[in-house]
Amino acid sequence: MVMAENVHKSFGRLEVLRGIDLEVRRGEVTCVVGPSGSGKSTFLRCINHLEKINGGRLWVNGRLMGYRQHRGRLYELRDSQVAAQRRDIGMVFQAFNLFPHMSVLANVVEAPMRVKREPRPAARETAMELLDKVGLADKAASFPRQLSGGQQQRVAIARALAMRPELMLFDEPTSALDPELVGEVLDVMKDLAREGMTMVVVTHEMGFAREVGDSLVFMDGGVVVESGAPKRVLTDPQHERTQAFLSKVL
Ligand code: ADP
Ligand code: MG
Repeated sequence: MVMAENVHKSFGRLEVLRGIDLEVRRGEVTCVVGPSGSGKSTFLRCINHLEKINGGRLWVNGRLMGYRQHRGRLYELRDSQVAAQRRDIGMVFQAFNLFPHMSVLANVVEAPMRVKREPRPAARETAMELLDKVGLADKAASFPRQLSGGQQQRVAIARALAMRPELMLFDEPTSALDPELVGEVLDVMKDLAREGMTMVVVTHEMGFAREVGDSLVFMDGGVVVESGAPKRVLTDPQHERTQAFLSKVL
């Protein structure tokens, strides 16, 4: 579902991603951990093409992001074509990023109606199913400010799912939440994983990584230092940098 090959990304002279190699199989959950500033968010943003990479190649669902192949040659895509590639990727951020002036239901139907031109009744029906799935059908008419952080994040997940993504990216989805609200968001993510959604999750929740992750990737300094089965990486890290990081967070 995702293949990154020697991905590089710089901001000016700051080289943030220094050759990322990563493979995410369809239906699997990949958890990404690493110190602050190691490039985790930047990498997710590159997968979603919110950032343009400076080197290497990035495929999502078999398509080379940002390019079109024609008669053996590569052509850079226009913005509208890039937007079309991004449509199948859902993203959930640390700060829930809901539209504050719109109801919960309006937040969830917005993209399908605007981007996919879904008629309102169909979009509403899907939205209500998704809100039910995240346990918030009774909050459809509420506004984001009336919800707890955990509820807002569950709406954000429903909103991303409304586009019927093939891949879901989560960037520290529980880091902004009070501790007692973390579980309800992780539970929704567990359900998604169980249903076979392909997910890349940047997280500090090692319990989630161990229980739900099919693989665990440790990033530091803009590279993948180590990856493998979560239990193996967590209990028997091979690299000194992984050991040092885990000894601080576990
Ligand atoms: P992480 O998510 O692992 O904490 P980030 O990907 O957010 O790391 O950031 C990695 C580095 O890239 C940091 O030094 C950060 O300041 C820098 N960075 C991220 N986004 C930008 C940007 N848009 N412009 C300049 N520097 C950036
Ligand atoms: Mg980050």
